[in-house]
Amino acid sequence: MGLGAKTKAIIQKYDFAFKKNFGQNFLIDEHVLNKIISSADITKEDTVLEIGPGIGTLTQALAKSAGKVIAVEIDKTLVPILKEVLSDFDNIEIINNDILKTDIRALAGDTRLKLVANLPYYITTPIIMGILEQRLPVESITVMIQKEVALRMQAQPSSKDYGALSLAVQYYCEPYLVANVPQNCFMPRPNVDSAVIRLTPYEKPPVEVKDEALMFRLIKAAFSQRRKTLVNCLFNSNDFNFDKAQLGEILKANGFDERVRGESLSLEDFAKLADAFAE
Ligand code: SAM
Repeated sequence: MGLGAKTKAIIQKYDFAFKKNFGQNFLIDEHVLNKIISSADITKEDTVLEIGPGIGTLTQALAKSAGKVIAVEIDKTLVPILKEVLSDFDNIEIINNDILKTDIRALAGDTRLKLVANLPYYITTPIIMGILEQRLPVESITVMIQKEVALRMQAQPSSKDYGALSLAVQYYCEPYLVANVPQNCFMPRPNVDSAVIRLTPYEKPPVEVKDEALMFRLIKAAFSQRRKTLVNCLFNSNDFNFDKAQLGEILKANGFDERVRGESLSLEDFAKLADAFAE
């Protein structure tokens, strides 16, 4: 039986009703499933954290490769289904909780987790940025997300997808786009395309900056009005109290054109400017 038919049979057996507000689009494509597993590079030494196991399709595949799988699912109606579907495995722990209220550091204990998930799209960014910003013990993140967000995460300066999210993600980790995934790989079909992305957190960020928080405030202000110059964006932001002449001087003194836009600046450029503002 194919994954689509298996999923349908489980849904019918348990009379399960999909909940849109939980982002429930279950994966029904074997090829994509295998691609996620192979790109996550899991061994029996690994503890995997899965966010949103659904009816356990990815969970089963993970449990075959990993030492242990911890699966956190918000929907309590899925728990009895998961218990039955996964009853052959003794290395899966199911936790019925909201991942945003779960202490991931405590779950990890003294191991480093590999996160593998077909994420609920309504909370993609808070989940990923939460893990990265809190520097949780996560060795790699291999996740299905909206294609549009995946493109933004790995975008380079001066491209249309480049923005504050690209810089935030690339400060903490190296992104790699594993695969594009069309809508027909899910049940029910989502109304956006998807992609699998792998993020490998750095031991140490690729740039050095005196004040990380200041750099991210600068990035946020720089992209607040995309078509405006950096000077105008910073001048209009409540966060930077300089007049336009002073802002222009700071840019020039650091080797940038006064009319430069945020979208053409690299992470290194933002780090350099943040250091200048820190002074
Ligand atoms: N892993 C399954 C698969 O690939 O078929 C299901 C993926 S589905 C896109 C997202 C899953 O995340 C659903 O099972 C949903 O109930 C669960 N979920 C949604 N919000 C959650 C949250 N805040 N915490 C934990 N799980 C959540």
